[in-house]
This record gives sequence, structure tokens and C-alpha cells, in this order.
Amino acid sequence: MYRTHTCGALRLSDVKQEVTLCGWVQTVRKFGSITFVDLRDRYGITQLLFHERLNERLTETPLGREYVIQIKGEVCERSNKNTKIPTGEIEILVHDFAIMNVAQVPPFTIEDNTDGGDELRMKYRYLDLRRPVLKRNLELRYKVNRAVRNYLDTQGFWDIETPFLIKSTPEGARDFVVPSRMNEEQFYALPQSPQTFKQLLMVSGYDRYYQIVKCFRDEDLRADRQPEFTQIDCEMSFVEQEDILQTFEGLFKHVFHEIKGSNMTEAFPRMTWDDAMWHYGNDKPDIRFEMKIQNLKVKQEVFCDTLNHTDFKVTQEAATVLAISVPGMAEYTRKQTDELTEWVKRPQIGMSGLFFIKCNADGSFKSSVDKFFDATQLREIATFSKAEPGDLILLLAGSEERTRKAMSELRLLMGDRLGLRDPNHYKPLWVIDFPLFEYVEDESRFVARHHPFTAPKPEQVNWLSLPEKYEHIKANAYDMVLNGTEIGGGSIRIFQRDIQEQMFAALGLSKEEAQEKFGFLLGAFEYGAPPHGGIAFGFDRLCALLGGQESIRDFIAFPKNNAGRDMMLDAPSVLDDNQLIELRLK
Ligand code: ASP
Repeated sequence: MYRTHTCGALRLSDVKQEVTLCGWVQTVRKFGSITFVDLRDRYGITQLLFHERLNERLTETPLGREYVIQIKGEVCERSNKNTKIPTGEIEILVHDFAIMNVAQVPPFTIEDNTDGGDELRMKYRYLDLRRPVLKRNLELRYKVNRAVRNYLDTQGFWDIETPFLIKSTPEGARDFVVPSRMNEEQFYALPQSPQTFKQLLMVSGYDRYYQIVKCFRDEDLRADRQPEFTQIDCEMSFVEQEDILQTFEGLFKHVFHEIKGSNMTEAFPRMTWDDAMWHYGNDKPDIRFEMKIQNLKVKQEVFCDTLNHTDFKVTQEAATVLAISVPGMAEYTRKQTDELTEWVKRPQIGMSGLFFIKCNADGSFKSSVDKFFDATQLREIATFSKAEPGDLILLLAGSEERTRKAMSELRLLMGDRLGLRDPNHYKPLWVIDFPLFEYVEDESRFVARHHPFTAPKPEQVNWLSLPEKYEHIKANAYDMVLNGTEIGGGSIRIFQRDIQEQMFAALGLSKEEAQEKFGFLLGAFEYGAPPHGGIAFGFDRLCALLGGQESIRDFIAFPKNNAGRDMMLDAPSVLDDNQLIELRLK
């Protein structure tokens, strides 16, 4: 037997026991003739005390950081107790030890506050994973996984695996492809999600399916994305949107309870996509704080009458003018408002400027547009913007889409500055009634906003044959949003062949292309497809949010870097000529 206990197990009640422990040497501290060692494993850290009797052996074979050792000894009460760790009241008086494996000096310190940079830690990920922070993250991930499975099990869902080597069927992003050796010049694709398979499982009558599954998307890896990521993928038959929202609100609440130990009793608020865009400027509103966007002018339509009575060119010419009232920030100095102006001018935000109105506590106003608006007009704008004395009103003017997006970002920035975005404060909601289509300017065509299998609202199905109506068609599509992040999304699906064909046609796919790419699904719809719908959650992101952290990378055991590289394996890598020839790629 290698060990009697783990390094996290022993307590005061174990004093006088003879134990054997195994683990990694975290630190070695020599005090005169005695040596203290912290021994670490997945379960914790236990202090070891080597008496001078063992000095000779320790000199012969000194212990180094990250050596794997086995020790035998007696559990003793510690005189100098450490209240920060569960084993802090005891130590082991070592009688005997054996070095099971030596280790090179690790390239960075194996501690929460390590001195290793990102790339270095990714190269030695197996060492990085020894750090307690990452261990806690992976433990949390495991617990979220378990809670999800337990809940879905109680709801009658079956975990059914679907293939990874599939047919390339565009779903929004680019496919990763795999050459087939046995089928000359043909390729498999890796699934962007099991979407069509889960729908086929509904056609097969499996009713409630789920899978915690890898998905692959060959996208440019902006901010914290991974080319392979994990989804909690679910589908149900004979359901309406309401059934799905209830079931998966239940899932989230269960997971939250298991992980956080507290109950979310209230029903999640629901907000239409239109309202989310109008009040928050995006479809994943952070509702931990108010500071709603005020729409003074939208797509040339003026809502705040004051803008009709000014010769201020900026608001006259802009399609859209939006405002937020930032509570208590009227104190902002010139330097600070200048800095905000620079911020909105950054290329990522892309505005040409910002103007502001300070609502002083005494009821007076000071603004960057005093030349164009008199005190009465400033008061009118302030009233329209729901500003209170002491608030700072920030205004942006420009084209609709850019201005709305910029205001949404500015709102989040101000939320951050006011400390209103505490990661340990959880505010989920549903965003519903998404548009079915999205117009892509560059390509002058409509694409599916969610995916091509999403059904239009039943009363708008006929509009599929009326292109002029496309921008108005709504879907029973929904996102679960948590703290400004989309954590899950899904829809009620099309389940009739003719409607699916109309949808493909609307997306610009010819009959032949639709048959070639999706014939299997269209065919299945001719053999008794039930009404169905589903949802998928981003598992990595969910874990990061529940862990109160930003980066999904820290919740994935072996992630890739921002360039999509595995720094440890050094992948992707070149193939040798023989492999290329065999695959007929050369
Ligand atoms: N397959 C979809 C996605 O990956 C989710 C769904 O509609 O269930 O976004």
C-alpha cells in the first residue's frame, strides 16, 4: 500500500496515529537541525517535520521542489498552528522516507501567485495544473458537470453520443475538416455542434436527449474563445418554448444551488430581443445594474423634442442619439471626460466623439454643448434621460448600429467604474423573440441569426416567401444570459420538409444545394418528425462565470492559446511526406 491517508485528510483527532503519505514536495525549510517540508497532493497540504536523526540521509539525498516522496511517521499536534488550511493543526513527525521520483526545478513557482507567464505555463500545463487555483477550477467544472447530469437525469433525459466525423454542413462558422484516407479527395468535418443529430434523434422518438460534448469551430480566436469547446447540448420533443424555458431555468437553478449552496427562487426575468437592444444596446444585457439607454433619436425619428429645436449639427445629422445617466458622476473632471471621449474614439468603439451634461447637485447644468443648448433645453434633455441631480449624462450620436453598440460598451464601462458588476452577484435572464434572420451588409444577403433549423413564429411562417418581410420575422429563439454573457441559446425547430426547404431558399441555397448538404434531414422530415426544440449551453463559460472568473481557459485542462495552438504538444504541426501522400494531399 502506497499510502494510508492523503495530504488533506489528517486532523487533531488523528494525533498519535502512524501514517504513510505520498505527494509532491512543495517547500523545504531548514531550521538548524530540523527540516520542515510541505507535502502536497490533490487533496491538500500536510506539514512534515524531519528530525536531526534524518539529517544525514537528507544531506545525502536532499529533497527538491516537486520531488515525489513517500513518508512514514506519527501525527502530532502542531505548536504553531496554521488556521488557513484544514490540516493546519497537525504535522507528521517523520520516521522514514523514500524518494519515489526526483524532479527538475520547475520553470515557474507552483503557487497561486506564480511567476510564470501565460505561454510558459501553457507549455508546462501539467505543472500549471498543480497550482491550487487551477485545481479548484477543474474541481468546480467536474461538480457543474455532475450537477447537470443529475438534474437532467431526474427530468428523463438520456445521454446519447453523436459522431465527430461528419459531413461538412455550414452552421455559421467555418468547419474543421479531416481528410479521409479511404475515400480519395473526400473530407469529413468536425461538428460545430450536434445540431442535426439531436434533431434526428427526435425524429427517432428519443424525446429527451442531452450530451456534454465537444464542438469545433474554426473561427478567429478573438477574446477568450477556443477552437474546441464544450456544450451542454439538449433537445426535447412535443414541447413549446415555455416548456424549454421552464426545464432549463430549472437546470440553472439546480446547478447554482449545488455549486453556490444558495437558492435562486425567483423566476428569471424575460426580455424581448427588441427591448434588450432598445434599453441596453445589445442582446445580452447585464442587468446587475440599471443605467438604461435613453433613446433621444433613433434612425432619424426624434423622441426627445428638444433635438427638434437646436442648430447643433451633430444631433441634427446623426441617425441616432443615445444617452445614459451615470449616477453620481457629475463630479467628473475635465480630464476624466476627455479620457472618456478618447475611449469612445478607439477603433474598437469607433465613435467620432462624445458629449456630456453634468447635472449639478444645485440643479444647474454644465455641459460640453452649452453653445447649442440653453439651460431649459439641457433640463429637458436631463428629464428625458431620467437624470437626477449629481448624475453625469453621456451622449453619443451617429449611425444606428455603431452608436447603439458603442453606448452598450460605454454603459458597461461605467458600470465597471461604479463597481456595479460584481462577479459574485448573479443576475440571469431570458432574452426571447429573436429575429429569424440577420442581414449581412458585406454579402448583401440574409443569414440565419441562430441557425437554419430555427422555426419562424407560427403566425409568420407565410412570410418566408416574402423577402421584404424577412427583417421582421421573429423566431421562438431564446438565450439564457448571465451577467452580460450569453450562456445558452436555442430555439423551436422547423420539423416540416416544405418549411425547411423554404428556409434554405430564403438563405440563398438552391434546391440542389439544400438536397446535397441537408438531404438527410429533409428526408428524415418525411418519416414522421415530431415538433421539437432545444438549447445548448456553453459549458466552459458557465463554469468560468460560476467560478467568478473571466477566462474560460482557466477552466479547461488543456486549452489552446489565442492563436489556436497547443503550446504543450506544439500542435498543429506539419505531417511527414508519407502521411501527406497517403492522404493524397501531396
Ligand atoms: N446548436 C445550437 C448552437 O450550437 C444550439 C441549439 O439550437 O440547440 O448554438
